[in-house]
Parts: sequence; structure tokens; C-alpha cells
Amino acid sequence: MARTVLQQADIARALTRISHEILESNRGPDNLVILGIPTRGVLLAQRIAETIARIEPSATDVQVGSLDVTMYRDDLAHSLTRTPAPTSVPGSIDGKTVVLVDDVLFSGRTIRAALDALGDHGRPRAVRLAVLVDRGHRELPIRADFVGKNLPSSTDERINVHLAEVDGDEFVSIEST
Ligand code: 5GP
Ligand code: MG
Repeated sequence: MARTVLQQADIARALTRISHEILESNRGPDNLVILGIPTRGVLLAQRIAETIARIEPSATDVQVGSLDVTMYRDDLAHSLTRTPAPTSVPGSIDGKTVVLVDDVLFSGRTIRAALDALGDHGRPRAVRLAVLVDRGHRELPIRADFVGKNLPSSTDERINVHLAEVDGDEFVSIEST
């Protein structure tokens, strides 16, 4: 049985809050690059960038893109059964504040890999992390700066994140596996 934790309106509110928090911590929209981790992190990154542009009319050039980390995973790198998603980093990230965006933060290994992947693209001034759900169970010293919902989970539970663009419906639920 899956228990719904966030409905569509809750997700929208969380992303609006995160967008405000990013603007507050960056003291405005300048030099922001929002990079989503495929698949759903990219959709969330696009929504955050759109929201920032709506909140700050001066935010003319918030860069948004995606960062594929498949080939940087220490645990998956040797398995070529996974097809890498395209990376599209918009322009230079040198000196920028990069906000990585993912749907769920768990062990932290994906974000570690993302930091590795970022290194191939340049040297940001700072890197921040925004996630829709932090489900705990970190295996590395990584934490999110902006969190939609803290959802303490057991390891045999799974968080379902459905987003309209790819799933047709939109909610976050927690389910025993
Ligand atoms: P980590 O690398 O931190 O262990 O796991 C995070 C990555 O795996 C994210 O990209 C996320 O999409 C996916 N992930 C890990 N656990 C879950 C989960 O319970 N639900 C969903 N939807 N994705 C998860
Ligand atoms: Mg993922």
C-alpha cells in the first residue's frame, strides 16, 4: 500500500519555497545555473528556473540544464547496460553558483558523482543542492541545502515521485517494497 505524502499542490508549494530560498541565499538571481539530474531532477530544475524568473522580473538569464552522472557512479561505472542521458550544461559554469536538483536524496552517491561530473565542466564559485525529498540513509558526508520534504524512511521502503510531464499524474508517495 502506498501512502501519499505530497499532492500536486504540495509539490508546487515546496518548489515555490525552494525557489525563494535559492534567491535569498544567492541574494538574487545573478550567476545562477540550475542543473537537474535526469530524469525527474531535470523537470524540477526547469520548474524552479521558471519560478525564479516569475518571482524576479530581473532574472533574465537564469541558466537551466541537465547533468548526467551515469558514467561517474562508482558503483555503476562498469556496467554499460545503462544508457547515459544527454548532459546539457548551458554555457560556462566558471564562477557561477550551480544548484544541483534531484528528486530524491538517499545515500548521496548520485550527488557525489554529480560533483565529479561538474568538475569536467568548469569551476563553479559554489555548488548547492536542492531535492524534493530527503529520505535519509546517507552513506557520504553530503546534505541538501534546500529540501522540499524530509521523509524519514526505512531502507525497504520506496518513495514514488510522479511528475506530470513524464508520469501523467503528480504526487509523492511512500510504499513498502
Ligand atoms: P542516492 O544516489 O542518493 O543513493 O540516490 C538518489 C538517486 O536515486 C536519485 O537520483 C533518485 O532519483 C534515486 N532514488 C534513490 N532512492 C529513491 C527512492 O526511494 N525513490 C525514488 N523515486 N528515487 C530514488
Ligand atoms: Mg534519479
